[in-house]
Amino acid sequence: MLYFDIHVPESLDDALKVLEEGGGEVVPIAGGTGLIPRLYLRRTRPRLLVDISGFKDMRYVKRDGGYIRIGALTTISDLLESDVIGGPLEAFVHMGKMFGSWQIRNVATVGGNVATSSLIEDLVPVLEVLGARVKLIGRRGERVVAMEKLYDKDKRATSIRPGEMISEVFFEEKKREYWTAFDKMGRRSYLVMALVNVAIMLDMDPKSRHVYDVKVATNAIGGSTPGRARRSESELRGRRLNDGNVDRFLRAFEDELSPRDDFRASAEYRRSIAKVMAKRLLEYCERRISEGGK
Ligand SMILES: Cc1cc2nc3c(=O)[nH]c(=O)nc-3n(C[C@H](O)[C@H](O)[C@H](O)COP(=O)(O)OP(=O)(O)OC[C@H]3O[C@@H](n4cnc5c(N)ncnc54)[C@H](O)[C@@H]3O)c2cc1C
Repeated sequence: MLYFDIHVPESLDDALKVLEEGGGEVVPIAGGTGLIPRLYLRRTRPRLLVDISGFKDMRYVKRDGGYIRIGALTTISDLLESDVIGGPLEAFVHMGKMFGSWQIRNVATVGGNVATSSLIEDLVPVLEVLGARVKLIGRRGERVVAMEKLYDKDKRATSIRPGEMISEVFFEEKKREYWTAFDKMGRRSYLVMALVNVAIMLDMDPKSRHVYDVKVATNAIGGSTPGRARRSESELRGRRLNDGNVDRFLRAFEDELSPRDDFRASAEYRRSIAKVMAKRLLEYCERRISEGGK
């Protein structure tokens, strides 16, 4: 039997006070889909949980002064239902449709996904290719951390200090033509942990095929794999999207990965499948941009 104490705060201030007083031994719980299984498996033993699920004003997806802002308590289903998501932000739709089951999507939150210290979270690479930043709040005020600074080399969200919680993630809305895409490979196609997930953002002139910017990020693949594959990106950024440059990009991508070998899949399988996924995602983004998003 699993026993734990839970505090239902009366206000945000109350939540932040209890979190701060508890140091690292008191943690927030939102949807519980990441934390409860970890409690069952005894992977974590917080002294107290603070239920933040009632803070409905942290549940939004909105455009605001050139930025897209997503509240920490926004669920994966909320993302899929949002008018703001879609079009060039299609990676969120790809990700959301492959995320758990509808029951999980209805409660799993954006903040919980970003804060979870495991290596498989599907939303993380999508936010990384969009250059997202994370707003953290605590009793001493708020601060903003870039997604890539949030995690240590083992992808643990160590930048979130005890007593802090995520209130929002946000990113700048691009002005030029761009597209995003995401794919995930697991051992089956439904309700599965990713063996590899890849997200791409391509910002390209549809006529000249000049690549203004490209970002590629992976998760789940393991080892010391970077979130962003920066060396590979530099093979395409500022160049024309043609067969030679795409080949160079894919070779660099393959080299840059350091996949893990485990009972789910071999490192070689992960490496080759990631390369195929990156190629298809790049082609997909290119097609969407060339067709004017139709
Ligand atoms: C059956 C099943 C299927 C799943 N499928 C997927 C999948 O396809 N893809 C995927 O990526 N994940 C999947 N997950 C994992 C999980 O659903 C996600 O990571 C989810 O987004 C976690 O959100 P949550 O609100 O449930 O977090 P919680 O479980 O409430 O919390 C998770 C962690 O984040 C912390 N936390 C929560 N909110 C905040 C906040 N605002 N600020 C700071 N810390 C916070 C908690 O303290 C805890 O450490 C699955 C889980 C289950 C049980």
